[in-house]
Amino acid sequence: MSTRTPALDLLRPDLEQAIAILRAGGVVAMPTETVYGLAADARNADAVAEVFALKQRPLDHPLIVHLARADDVADWAAAVPETARRFGAAAWPGPLTLVLAARDEVPRQVTGGQDTVALRVPDHPLARALIAGSGGALVAPSANRFGQLSPSCAEHVLQGFGDAPPPVLDGGPCRVGIESTVVFVDDAGWQILRPGHWTADALERIAGTPPRPAGSTAPRAPGQLASHYAPRTPLVLCADRATLQALETPYDAVLELSSDPQAAAAALYDTLHRLDASGARRILAQLPPNTPDWAAVRDRLTRAATPA
Ligand code: AMP
Ligand code: MG
Repeated sequence: MSTRTPALDLLRPDLEQAIAILRAGGVVAMPTETVYGLAADARNADAVAEVFALKQRPLDHPLIVHLARADDVADWAAAVPETARRFGAAAWPGPLTLVLAARDEVPRQVTGGQDTVALRVPDHPLARALIAGSGGALVAPSANRFGQLSPSCAEHVLQGFGDAPPPVLDGGPCRVGIESTVVFVDDAGWQILRPGHWTADALERIAGTPPRPAGSTAPRAPGQLASHYAPRTPLVLCADRATLQALETPYDAVLELSSDPQAAAAALYDTLHRLDASGARRILAQLPPNTPDWAAVRDRLTRAATPA
């Protein structure tokens, strides 16, 4: 009996409305399989500037350009080394970002002033539809204020920006739940700049060569700060269960991680958001083992625990 009226909820646009906002040079939070991203047209300087402003992100921190198709990499990368081609063929669409030499015309606003550009083809159906419908290339850093916990569902985005949240295209909870693996590739080899869902072991099997030793040749990866992804409540990391139990008081909350690294990653930000809101004095967590399959969760926990 009710006639359907057009949705007027400006904070919860549907796909068509989100496309219209992006085409008009606006900003929309979009679901991806990793975390929610604050999306804007990568070729629109004012829209990209608005992303930096909303996030309060330093201007030298590069943004990842999200593409609808792997073929579109040629519009952004000056060259695509064979190893990068293999990574793209194996992982895209999906949670892997490739940092490659940038074409001259790539705005240095997007690359944080560097001559490399970070590229990813996400596999969330709404992200792909949004990218394809709005011009083919969106910057989309995590949809949270700089340094804070990343959002793995629409509610986290709406809560994270206080009384001025961006509109959110709601795609439900994120499947992977933590940010993409970021890999730098040039003709001399490859190197992980940020651990994620794709492990060093898996990438080595695809590349057929081991990663180059850390340090030396890779570009800066700003955003890899000691303190990042942090809840407001202090997070205390313990090497083992006995240490945690010795520290625990009735005022503390304990972060329980799944014994499966991918399940632990998928639940990580949601659990941290919940414990952060619980009123606990501290969050205690046991650091998972120092093995390649746990590298991404260990990385996020370690940065979340370092005092700012
Ligand atoms: P996010 O804030 O999750 O979008 O992550 C972007 C991250 O990707 C940055 O913090 C850098 O670590 C990395 N990154 C992006 N673009 C570049 C680039 N051009 N060169 C090196 N690292 C980059
Ligand atoms: Mg982030």
